[in-house]
Amino acid sequence: EVTYDLIIVGGGPIGMACAIAAKKANLKTLILEKGALVNSLFNYPLYMTFFSTAERLEIGGIPFNCLAPKPGRQEALEYYRNIQRYFDLDIRLFEKVESIAKTDDLFDVISEKEKYTAKNVVIATGFYDIPIYMGIPGEQLPKVSHYFKEAHEFAFRKVLVVGANNSSVDAALECWRKGAQVTMVIRKGEISPRVKYWVKPDAENRIAEGNIKAHFNSCVTEIRESEVEIENADGKFTVENDFVLALTGYRPDFDFLEKTGIELSKDELLIPKHDPETMETNIPGLYLAGVVCGGMETHKWFIENSRIHADMIIDHILKNS
Ligand code: FAD
Repeated sequence: EVTYDLIIVGGGPIGMACAIAAKKANLKTLILEKGALVNSLFNYPLYMTFFSTAERLEIGGIPFNCLAPKPGRQEALEYYRNIQRYFDLDIRLFEKVESIAKTDDLFDVISEKEKYTAKNVVIATGFYDIPIYMGIPGEQLPKVSHYFKEAHEFAFRKVLVVGANNSSVDAALECWRKGAQVTMVIRKGEISPRVKYWVKPDAENRIAEGNIKAHFNSCVTEIRESEVEIENADGKFTVENDFVLALTGYRPDFDFLEKTGIELSKDELLIPKHDPETMETNIPGLYLAGVVCGGMETHKWFIENSRIHADMIIDHILKNS
């Protein structure tokens, strides 16, 4: 049986960046990815534009060719596929890791298909797989979605978009432009200040002119077949509705992290314990890379500020071996 120097869980941009750094250091490395290559990006809205410019999405020092300043999903998929062609990383796709356990000095990494042994493990599992549910009646109805792909199916229909961050604002604008009747329900009193600076005025102006209806300081309390119930300081009211896009955010798989033995901060942020200099968790030889390290603070980490985790981790592994 092979003992890997490093197994990386998650074939997102940062998992790939770790594998490239490991390959350059001649470490025997394997990536296990539960879906397609860069599966989160694959699941993004089809026509999304990154908030990062192309060079900030680069990994392994390979230039990202892009004509516009900011790439879209298609170009990013093209780029990361080319990265894989170039570096020929040892990656098994559509193989989910079920558990990681350390016995003596080695980790047993058990996937849905096989058991592997490794001296070190990096968890780079991101946060896009688990939506933050509203926990209201009707949320499980088929007309409710926590992901947005494209607007066409919503054209000429009544769509409720929950939330006021980037995903919600992008979806609301795209649906409205494709002919949907859009209502937004926003918990706070404004569009989130984190919304892309060139998109925010577009949303605010569509709301101000009344083309997109927005209920601020309001919550959805129930979803029914042909209406939704909304509550604000004035009380409850209903709005006719065909579809709900509940783009209320996503969160890391905390059960998986806890089951692996990683301590989470005791506050509501649930930050998995790690040394910010080395990215090592409370379990020696087990590291976090990419956006998973932020716990519920999913907005703090992105590709451009977490791709450096790769070198930090590989440097530490080399120092310890
Ligand atoms: P991910 O890309 O999420 O990769 C994690 C991978 O782990 C996934 O492929 C997943 O399938 C896999 N995985 C999870 N669990 C398991 C398991 N148990 N076993 C095996 N594999 C598993 N960031 C930017 O820097 N710039 C942007 O412009 C930007 N725009 C964004 C737009 C949207 C709509 C969203 C949702 C996010 C955006 N982000 C952006 C944030 C971006 O998602 C992250 O920065 C980036 O994906 C982080 O990479 P990662 O490798 O840490 O995680």
